[in-house]
Amino acid sequence: MSTDESDPVKTICPYCGVGCGIQVKQGDDPGDVKFMPWADAPVNEGRICIKGGAATQVVNHEDRLTEPLIKEDGEFREATWEEAYDRIVSEMTRIRDTYEPDAMGFFGSSKTMNEENYLLQKIARRYGTNNIDNCTRMCHASTVWALRTSLGAGAMTNSMADLREAGDLFWIQGANPGEQHPIANSQYFRQAVLEGATVIQVDPHANKTTRSFKISESDRHMHLQLNPGTDIPLLNIVIKTILENDWIDEEFIANRTEGFEHLTETLESFDKAAAAEECGVPLEDIELAAEKYAMANNAAIFTGMGMSQHTCGVDNVQNEINLALITGNLGRPGTGVNPLRGQNNVQGTCDVGAMPNVLPGYQLVDDDEARRSVEAVWGFEIPSEPGLTNVEISHEAGRSIHGLYIMGENPIMSEPDANEVAKRFEELEFCVVQDIFMTETARYADVILPATTWAERGGTVTNTDRRVQRMRGVQKVHENTKHDLEILMEIGSRLFGEDGFRFDDVEAVFEELRQVCPSYHGMTYELLGETGLHWPCYELGDEGDPYLYESSFDTENGLGQIEGVRHQPPAEVPDEEYPLILTTARLEEHYNTGTMSRRSPTLNRQHPENFVDIHPNDAARYEIEDGDMVTLRSRRGEIEVKAQVTEAIKEGVIWTTPHFAAASANRLTNDVLDDRAKIPEYKAAAAEIAIT
Ligand code: SF4
Repeated sequence: MSTDESDPVKTICPYCGVGCGIQVKQGDDPGDVKFMPWADAPVNEGRICIKGGAATQVVNHEDRLTEPLIKEDGEFREATWEEAYDRIVSEMTRIRDTYEPDAMGFFGSSKTMNEENYLLQKIARRYGTNNIDNCTRMCHASTVWALRTSLGAGAMTNSMADLREAGDLFWIQGANPGEQHPIANSQYFRQAVLEGATVIQVDPHANKTTRSFKISESDRHMHLQLNPGTDIPLLNIVIKTILENDWIDEEFIANRTEGFEHLTETLESFDKAAAAEECGVPLEDIELAAEKYAMANNAAIFTGMGMSQHTCGVDNVQNEINLALITGNLGRPGTGVNPLRGQNNVQGTCDVGAMPNVLPGYQLVDDDEARRSVEAVWGFEIPSEPGLTNVEISHEAGRSIHGLYIMGENPIMSEPDANEVAKRFEELEFCVVQDIFMTETARYADVILPATTWAERGGTVTNTDRRVQRMRGVQKVHENTKHDLEILMEIGSRLFGEDGFRFDDVEAVFEELRQVCPSYHGMTYELLGETGLHWPCYELGDEGDPYLYESSFDTENGLGQIEGVRHQPPAEVPDEEYPLILTTARLEEHYNTGTMSRRSPTLNRQHPENFVDIHPNDAARYEIEDGDMVTLRSRRGEIEVKAQVTEAIKEGVIWTTPHFAAASANRLTNDVLDDRAKIPEYKAAAAEIAIT
């Protein structure tokens, strides 16, 4: 299934969810893979950020895994693919026979393509378990839950292009597109702002988004710099202000929603002044922001992990939905509730069913009718109980979970309370890691399978605004590596027989996927072409929807669901021992656990090590000077980082990143979960700081 081409091939940047088109060109030898711009790429029209421009740097990196490895007596030795496959199949069979199918867990990855995640989740289900999850659990599981339940689809309601054309006001809460979605920010949102759109930013941190729109110097834009974990009270002030002033859209509420009375009852005795105090933002500023949102012709909400990564993540996003529904800001261009997705294929990985509670197309595993329709295509019975999420699987490692199959993920760094995750992984009986580098997690594996990179293979990915696009690859760099799909076909066929697990090529997998995924049903590789299609495409020929819900919502009764929510503080709040709130976020130049970006000279040069932002008043209290090495501690661990004293962060809050293995923020973060979406509370942990 490799593509040996010497002409440049059009593909998609492997990093964030914007889905920028780039080209890769094969040089004179297999390791020589060059980056080229794609001038008329549908999303980015040739523009590229620093990550996209440096993406090919890691394809031929000297650290690439080149041979299968098997651990013996605590050491890895090179092995043949035959040995590796035999070991995997015999261990997976032993675990199922000794315990039960639910003793295995499977991690898909948003760094891999739709077809690969589709086949991995099919293997898990054929094995007999729904213990399959992916990294969306860590970023937008709560967003997906709230959007799916209250509107119908767990995705951006609108597209970047219609937001650029029609958006009058962008309410950006807990998201930082200036840092994390640079081309969406510069090419779409900035264009709208240049034409008069207003930005209301809600974030504890003054960040690249603040700077990119010159928010602090503007009379038009606003930055509401709230305390971490106070998003619900802030939005409740906004909503109550809108109710008090009768700025609601009565017709929209009457015809297109239900639950409005619940919202008004919830806010009846809500004290705006006390809530503003809790948020740490002047009440009049929040009221002015509410007026700006309500008065805009088309107001769009952008939501990010500052909202989703909380124990109240589902309720945080529900309150954004409430705001959009009561003002009629849904179902039109330039409006909506729009999660900005962090990874190249995080939307698609969910769409194709690499989740414990849903099958492809978000069909619930415990819905008998949905399950039967997928079983009719697959030809085997699917377990009906939702499985464990990835954080739950890690908690259970060495307890009820005895084996783990990890494709392209690095949970030892990406999951909260990472020291505990490492301890749990030591207790596993068997672990397979399929990756391109020896990651921090791969060291805990029994078998490591060397995979090809994004630039060496083809498939499809789905970007943040539901656009499904094709990726294409050039020649393999290392002869004995394999494409993820080839590996999965081999494992599936050896475990369960060829039928349903052996495909002629990657397109044949997509052809099966679209049979069981209703919103992809009208797509083929040919129809995707070079521009891709925004799902849903239910029938062949559907052109896809740049914005959703024009006439009704995809809920059972077609109505948008309003539900009042109340403030729930983070699970950990500051106390005498840990007097600060630690919050975390990503940098433009790095990508999640840094597996790729730390190996890119261009990217690593920008930020070679971790650091912490601390407010000058806090720095003075702890006698910390800018540039000092400091130790950050939480109840779960400690890291040493350089202090950056800056007024950009709110007093009482310290801010750091998860990218660096030597000092990863996730040794400190709290693994407590949102009850429904099971997303961890990365955004608020009690912590202390001291000079090292
Ligand atoms: Fe890649 Fe995102 Fe940058 Fe576009 S904005 S080049 S998709 S990292």
